[in-house]
Amino acid sequence: MATHRLYYDDAYLQNFEARVVSCEPTSPITTESGTRAAWEVLLDQSAFYPGSGGQPFDLGMIDEARILDVRDDGEEIVHIVDREVPVGAVAGCVDWSRRFDHMQQHTGQHLLSAMFQERYGLPTVSFHLGSEINTIDLRGREPQQATLEGAQHAANAVIFQDRPVTVRYGTALQLAELGVRKEVDRQGILRAIEIEGADLQPCGGTHVKSTGQIGMILVRRCVKIRQDWRVEFVCGSRAERSASADYLLLKRLGESLSCASEEIPAAIDKGAAERDANFKALRAAMQQLGEARAKLLVQECAPGPSGIRVVAKLMNDESSELLLPLATEIAKNERAVALLIHDETGLVVLAQHPSAGNDLNAVLKQMLGEVPGKGGGTKDFVRAKLMDPSKGAAALELAKKLAAG
Ligand SMILES: [Zn+2]
Repeated sequence: MATHRLYYDDAYLQNFEARVVSCEPTSPITTESGTRAAWEVLLDQSAFYPGSGGQPFDLGMIDEARILDVRDDGEEIVHIVDREVPVGAVAGCVDWSRRFDHMQQHTGQHLLSAMFQERYGLPTVSFHLGSEINTIDLRGREPQQATLEGAQHAANAVIFQDRPVTVRYGTALQLAELGVRKEVDRQGILRAIEIEGADLQPCGGTHVKSTGQIGMILVRRCVKIRQDWRVEFVCGSRAERSASADYLLLKRLGESLSCASEEIPAAIDKGAAERDANFKALRAAMQQLGEARAKLLVQECAPGPSGIRVVAKLMNDESSELLLPLATEIAKNERAVALLIHDETGLVVLAQHPSAGNDLNAVLKQMLGEVPGKGGGTKDFVRAKLMDPSKGAAALELAKKLAAG
């Protein structure tokens, strides 16, 4: 038996009387609060909107039973509830704050899509109303910032004029004559939503009765999705929350950068330039330090029986930035080998003068065979990182044995 859809004629109906046609146990349902037993209820009439056509389903109560889901099943609306409902007369109550939010988002979507179409020739090929963010997918050339702002501005102007939003019925042909752009292949009498002077769309959803109730439309990001452009937007109290959250974020950023919100981009540019300059200065200082330390370390290091000097060092107090210049400088000396491991980060640099004659790549490979890590290089220079920095001392002992020659 077809369910009479009360929301078709009155989207503002929150409390209604109905008769339970059937109530059957169904498979358990998983919601945010866990998995629970569920029953399927059919009513002779219902004000509960089922999840369909991009608009999410309603929540609410049927007597003492809580609605977990509402499904569109052809002619019937199937209510999934958390307990058994006896057959007979019941009272239904729609969770109004959730539903009204959906009505604001949905009507806002009609209006925003109409403005993209009318002003910029960008048709909406699909839309989605999410629990946080709504999206419409536009087809055509990429919408620039001015287009996004232009459509938002035009839609908000229609909101401020508080134009009526009405339901119209007619055949596909009649609606086409009235100006419906969308091709509809359904037969019989169709339902369409008209925003006076702005839009006429076939739609089975719930909408506010005048544009003023949308409150405000705020367009957010636009990203490419396959061949289309996905525009994110929010309406009503979501727009308010979203704008407030943006402001708080800017405020927090300004506080951490010690500047006013409008000075944040300049402060970030300045910070980045300072960071680059500091990094350059640090590298120059490390180069000088590397040269000086290398000289001392090579002098202090007694050559082995074959005349090779192996400078092996587990570095714990120095910056990891010193490893590279220090190893490079040591390796500039005849028959010198540098084996350096940074204790804190597990960074490894092995370098040698070609006259030292090791194959450091082979040394590294063997070392990493016992102390896991990743890296590589040439026979005279390798870099690596140990998986576990605390194994630095063990890795250095291995490298000393392997590279002593
Ligand atoms: Zn609609």
